[in-house]
Order: sequence, then structure tokens, then C-alpha cells
Amino acid sequence: MIKLKLHWQILIAMLLAVIAGFATGTDADIAGITFYSIYEFVGGLFLNALKMLIVPLITASIITGVAGIGIGDGFGRLGAKTVIYYFTTSLLAILTGLFFVNLIVPGVVNGVPAGGLMGLEADVSEIVANSQGRGASDFLTVFERMVPTNIFKAAAEGQMLGIITFSLIFAYYMVRIPSRYATAMTDFWQAMMMIMLKITELVMMFAPIGVFALVAKVVASTGFSAIMPLASFAGTVFLALLFHSVITLPLLMAAVGKVHPVRHFQAMLPALLMAFSTSSSAATLPVTLDSVEKRAGVSNRVSSFVLPLGATINMDGTALYECVAVIFIAQAYGIDLSLGLQFLIVTTALLTSVGVAGVPAASLVAIVVILAAAGLPAEGIGLILAVDRILDMCRTTVNVFSDSCGAVIIARSEGEDSVLAKIPDIR
Ligand code: ASP
Repeated sequence: MIKLKLHWQILIAMLLAVIAGFATGTDADIAGITFYSIYEFVGGLFLNALKMLIVPLITASIITGVAGIGIGDGFGRLGAKTVIYYFTTSLLAILTGLFFVNLIVPGVVNGVPAGGLMGLEADVSEIVANSQGRGASDFLTVFERMVPTNIFKAAAEGQMLGIITFSLIFAYYMVRIPSRYATAMTDFWQAMMMIMLKITELVMMFAPIGVFALVAKVVASTGFSAIMPLASFAGTVFLALLFHSVITLPLLMAAVGKVHPVRHFQAMLPALLMAFSTSSSAATLPVTLDSVEKRAGVSNRVSSFVLPLGATINMDGTALYECVAVIFIAQAYGIDLSLGLQFLIVTTALLTSVGVAGVPAASLVAIVVILAAAGLPAEGIGLILAVDRILDMCRTTVNVFSDSCGAVIIARSEGEDSVLAKIPDIR
């Protein structure tokens, strides 16, 4: 029997899910059980399994990776490169969004602000309430989260930043104690990492089923009718995301990383499909690590440093989306944005995107924060809710793709010549 490669299986599952989602909608049932609740149950189970991997896999990955850097000056150098890459690409993404939303002006239809046409029936009170007391200074809470009072509590709550900082410091000192003890600890974490990779493989065997359920659920509940009035907004976001991922990032890959961008796309396919289906860069992280290491050939030393940090703080797609959404809402309300205000939106989008969690719909709260900072009506968020999920799938894919490009570029700058030299055929 011919065994299809995993990414093909996932792709086929997605296509079938679109058909199934349309056919069943939210109401069709079998023996009194709606198909929708089956999608929800199976998709939820798969997401749980992915999330189950996160804490042990990320901890082991960071610790073995940093231990691999050894005791030279590699630690600081890698850190500096990572931060510079994240800052630059997020800013480029936001500027791309700014350009397209000003060019297309999706918030104005036939010269009339579209807010009135769309109505504002959506209930936004919960999102607005969530954003109370938050502001651009929300950025500072990122630093707060980096130093949790209790590392186990942070792990239990899925606060990745706390786990990352602790693991980085732990590994830094792990290789600086007497070698007898250092070796014992290194062996332990290496073993842990190997086991977690095996469990990841096991979970990934169920990916086609999980992806089918997740995508069918979205299609069944969203459909096309909700998207149509917002087609121009969704199109603007989509175009800008596309520009960032097929022009900006590949150019950086070719010019700075000196690698073939198409090869990288191919290598990253499993992770990109997973990001699209789950709308969560955190849940995709195990697959991102797997694709970047095994398929693109980046060392664990670099990927384990760059990717967990990236999944938490580098969100190009999200930053771009925040900027386009806020300016679209201003346009729809007929509010003219001065250059100063646009600048404020760009900076706040950059800062808040760092604080956005890698979970579905996390941007919405950040958008309310930016609306408030720019003095725009928070209820405007209601305009975009109908298309948020589908755009979430797209922006999460870009978030994950940018992290993976960062890993490749940084690995190349560290002298890893074998990265993307060829695509290893593993599945
Ligand atoms: N869903 C996105 C992610 O996980 C975050 C967002 O923009 O809502 O990357």
C-alpha cells in the first residue's frame, strides 16, 4: 500500500472537512448527536493532546538546546540575533498591513463609511470587559510574566514565558556545575527530549483526523454568508499576509540566510497546515520544532532557543492584523486618522503583539486595547468578529512561518551550512 506523506494526509483531511462542514452545518445529526458536537469533541481531544506535549517538550527542548551552546559567549549572541530578527520582521509586517489598508480602504464602500451598512449587532461586552485596565503598558506585564512566583503554577497555567526564562537560566547553570553532575543532568534531559519527540510523533499520527474535525467545525459554524459583507476587509488582511510571507520573509531568507525559500516552504508544510487548522501557535509548537529540526535541518541548539520564544513573543501575522483591523474600524466609522495617530497604532500593535498569547482569537483583546489607546470606539471590534476565525487561521500560519524563518536565518548566521541543503524525506 502506498503511504501518503503526512502533510498530504492533512491537506486531504482539510478539503474533506470543508465539504463535510458545509454539508452538515451545525444542526445535522446522526442518532440525535449533531455532527458539530462530534467535530468539537474530536478536535478538542486532538488539541488537548498537542497542548499536553507543550510543557515537557518545551522545557526539555530549551534545556538541551542551551546546554548544547556550551559555556562560550553563544548565549548572548543568539539572544541578540533573535530579538533583532523578531523586532524587524514584526515591524515590516505592520508596515505592510498599513500600506495595504491605506491603499484598499476596505472600511469605505462607494465613498460611504461602511460601519452603518454592517450594523453592530454583535455582543462585544465580554471582549471589552477583558480589555479593561489594560493599555499599551500591557507590554510591561510581559516582563512580569517572565519572572513567575511559582514555576509549577506557571506551567499549570500554560504561562510559557515563565517556563522559558526558568529553563534558559536552569540550562545556563546546568553546564556550569562540576562535570560529574552536569553530565548526569544533561543525560536526563536528553532522554526526556527523545521521549517527548516520540510522543509528538504518536500524536501527529492522529493529525489528519484532528485537523478534519477542527476545520469541519469552523466551516460548519461560520459558512460563507458571514464572510461576504466583510470580504473587502478579509481580502486586505489576506493580501497583506500573503505579501509578508511570499515576498518579505522569502527575500530575507534568500538575502540574509542565503537559502532557497521554496525549500523552506516545503520543509515547513506540516507545521503551516497545523497552524492553519489549530489557530494556535502555542499548540503548533511541537510540530514547528519537528519540522524545523528534522525537515529543514536546523540544529536543536538554535531551534530550541528561537522557536519557543518566537511562539510566545513573535507574531508577525497578529501584529499586521491588529494594525489593519484598527484602521479598518476607524475607516468604517468615518474617522480620519492623522499621521501621528497611525504612528501610535503601529507602535501599539508592535508592543501588544508581543503580549498576545498563542491561542485562538487572542488578538481581539489587543485590538480593543489599541482602539482605546487611539481613542476609537471599542465596540468597533464587533465589525470584524464574523471573519475573525478564518483570518485567525491565516495570521497564525504567518506567525509560525516567521518563527521558522528566524530559526533558519539565525542557524545560517551561526555557520550551519547543511540547513535546507536538501529536504530530508522522512515521512
Ligand atoms: N491565534 C494567534 C496565534 O496563536 C494569536 C492571534 O492573533 O489571535 O498565533
